[in-house]
Amino acid sequence: MYNIAVAGTGYVGLVAGVCFAEMGHQVTCVDIDEDKVELMRSGGSPIFETGLEELMQKNYKADRIEYTTDYENAYRSADAVFIGVGTPEQPDGSANLSYIATVARQIAESVESDTLVVVKSTVPVGTNDKVEQFIHDFLVNDVQVEVASNPEFLAQGSAVKDTLEAERIIIGTESTWAEQMLQEIYEPFKLPVVSVNRRSAEMIKYASNDFLALKISYMNDIANLCERVGADIQDVAEGMSYDERIGSKFLNAGIGFGGSCFPKDTKALDYIAQQNNYELKTVRAAIDINKSQKTKLFDKAGDRLITFDGLKVAVLGLTFKPGTDDLREAPSLENVPQLLEKGADVFAYDPVGTDNFSHIHPEGKRGKGSITYALNAEEALEDANVCFIFTEWGEIKAVEPDDYKKLMRTPLVYDGRNIHEVDAMKQAGVEYYSVGRPSVE
Ligand code: NAD
Repeated sequence: MYNIAVAGTGYVGLVAGVCFAEMGHQVTCVDIDEDKVELMRSGGSPIFETGLEELMQKNYKADRIEYTTDYENAYRSADAVFIGVGTPEQPDGSANLSYIATVARQIAESVESDTLVVVKSTVPVGTNDKVEQFIHDFLVNDVQVEVASNPEFLAQGSAVKDTLEAERIIIGTESTWAEQMLQEIYEPFKLPVVSVNRRSAEMIKYASNDFLALKISYMNDIANLCERVGADIQDVAEGMSYDERIGSKFLNAGIGFGGSCFPKDTKALDYIAQQNNYELKTVRAAIDINKSQKTKLFDKAGDRLITFDGLKVAVLGLTFKPGTDDLREAPSLENVPQLLEKGADVFAYDPVGTDNFSHIHPEGKRGKGSITYALNAEEALEDANVCFIFTEWGEIKAVEPDDYKKLMRTPLVYDGRNIHEVDAMKQAGVEYYSVGRPSVE
């Protein structure tokens, strides 16, 4: 078993650290955020992920995991340091590597024995070479440090399961020493390991994420055409799904992808292509389609209603997808400010995302409009003039078509996630618009 340090306790770092501990490794998770470290030491998770807190507590009690801000101590004697800090998007679309650089320097100044540095964060192709050089430039002690790539494929909302039962582990190494150590670290997981060079590993991450983003944008593009030609995207998707070459996943049309990965990773690969004098037309199209898709229903509702001014607008779902409290790039963040600007009184409900959203948009009067956080969907819908559905949480899917009719002042629903059956909404007497399906007018 190995002595592992993990830099960054976000979705990637914390889940990786906890799962390494669960597999028997000795893990120290490092973060710069003292409040987070305090919370984790008391058994709490700074992120919402099913099963994570239980595993944190179990491994903490078993003395296999600890949390600290003291990076020097954590990196000094680690066999491997995994880097899971953020690589957010910069205004030009490129990835911000400053957090990676900080950790690299901290590692260089701390390590006292040979160490494998493993980059889990999503980084542009060639970054691992630079990180290795950077560490060598700043090394204080006479030790060997090599960098390996081990991109992460977990999805928020199912992060623990995705790690313990990953479909594949990608390791990108430049020596048998590094490859062997990573093989041994992952051995207890009993999962398929694909071993390639560092640059291929870095590219596998972008190519995979961007392919999924492309699949979503393709279905949204087809959905928009379905609306014009009288086809139903759900039937179309079902018909397509029987073809094993296409597969049945990621065929749902909606108001576009959000989250911390697809939007930034599509833009980052587009940027990498530009830097290398190549035009990545497919990925560019996925980005463009997603941009217009996010406010598609807001625009549609704007055409139908004379004004949003003074209207009570129910917003169901704030997070970018169910199962997470993450709001990054969520459609709600595009639509709610526009509703407020147009004078709407927004009543928003989300099972777990309300706290985070209220930090950005505190309850009360906001510009011409106002925002109130409802405790449940029914409260948000009570007396509303119009409803937008942005996230397909179970609690939101559970709202019955009749509930819209009973609760709302005017049962007018814009469903960005196609969670209701068109016929059922028609029968309930709800005016209903979704994505790529016939509307009920
Ligand atoms: P995050 O923003 O949730 O977490 C990053 C953490 O790093 C924060 O807690 C921050 O305080 C900490 N940090 C910053 N500087 C530090 C330092 N010097 N030392 C220690 N900790 C430091 O990020 P995330 O969502 O976990 O993403 C991390 C990386 O993994 C990104 O490159 C992302 O693209 C990639 N990724 C994310 C997901 C996902 O679903 N979130 C999936 C696959 C890959």
